[in-house]
Amino acid sequence: MISNPPTHRDESSTNGTVEIPQWQQVEWKLSAGVQVGPAVNTATQRLEEAGITTARLDAQVILAHVLGVERSWLFAHYEHELAPEHAERYMELIVRRIAREPVAYLVRHREFYGIDLYVDHRVLIPRPETEMLVDQVLTEAAICAPETLTVADVGTGSGAIALAVASNAPNAQVYALDLSINALAVARRNIERHNLCDRVQLLHSDLLAALPVRADVVVANLPYVNTTDFATLDPDVRNFEPSSALVAGPQGIDVIERLLPQLPEHLNPGGVAILEIAYDQGELVMALVERLLPQATQLELHRDYHGRDRVVSFQL
Ligand code: GLN
Repeated sequence: MISNPPTHRDESSTNGTVEIPQWQQVEWKLSAGVQVGPAVNTATQRLEEAGITTARLDAQVILAHVLGVERSWLFAHYEHELAPEHAERYMELIVRRIAREPVAYLVRHREFYGIDLYVDHRVLIPRPETEMLVDQVLTEAAICAPETLTVADVGTGSGAIALAVASNAPNAQVYALDLSINALAVARRNIERHNLCDRVQLLHSDLLAALPVRADVVVANLPYVNTTDFATLDPDVRNFEPSSALVAGPQGIDVIERLLPQLPEHLNPGGVAILEIAYDQGELVMALVERLLPQATQLELHRDYHGRDRVVSFQL
């Protein structure tokens, strides 16, 4: 039985605790001396029953994590018997996955732009779409090289964008800002782990308020989910990721709307803003930029690989 529903969540979350449906409160035990193959198979079945579409992959990733091996190791060691403590830990994590806790939080890492990041419930799990923002910042860095490009990553969360930029552009000096002290602790861990403390500076800041210099680029993956869409998100996201990093009012633009007027005093002349937006916010955000920053030039909407609105950029 799951006696204690997961309580690991951002303190700013407003969702209350996770309710685990009756049918999910399963007794799930592996027999003593269970081997890798059967351990993966039985967990896969349980995860499928719980409606998880990536069941087998999840089971493999979780078991590899528990054993401290690469996922490929499992395929060559199907008959390897799990030590009791490994079986115990594996069962614990599979049960949490059945309750829809994201795999990245269970294994405490996620790859972003080829970089291994530590993540936990204090930060949003970096998404592949966000790599588009990094590409655009790196283009700016290449244009101005070897001159220094000063970048502000607003709402840095795990530090994903800041780190991807700093590790791929030697001429980038990055300020990574966040309002959440919890998120900054995670970002610090990642920056130290990748030895980028000299080029990524963390700042506790409400949007750009604490930025000590003008930036050449402001890049931001701020919360942009509207309250209606939030209610329909996967339970993995809705019940576990920090809602403070996701939700931004009835249209999802409350935070971006607050950022825009701050840009002129924090960007150098000719500076660029690169903002991630929701799949259907292109027109809305473009209109907002035109209204609040009529002086903006090169206003562009970029779509992601699925053809959905994803990034708005412009110059001031
Ligand atoms: N892309 C995220 C999601 O769909 C939202 C991220 C954000 O609000 N910045 O869950």
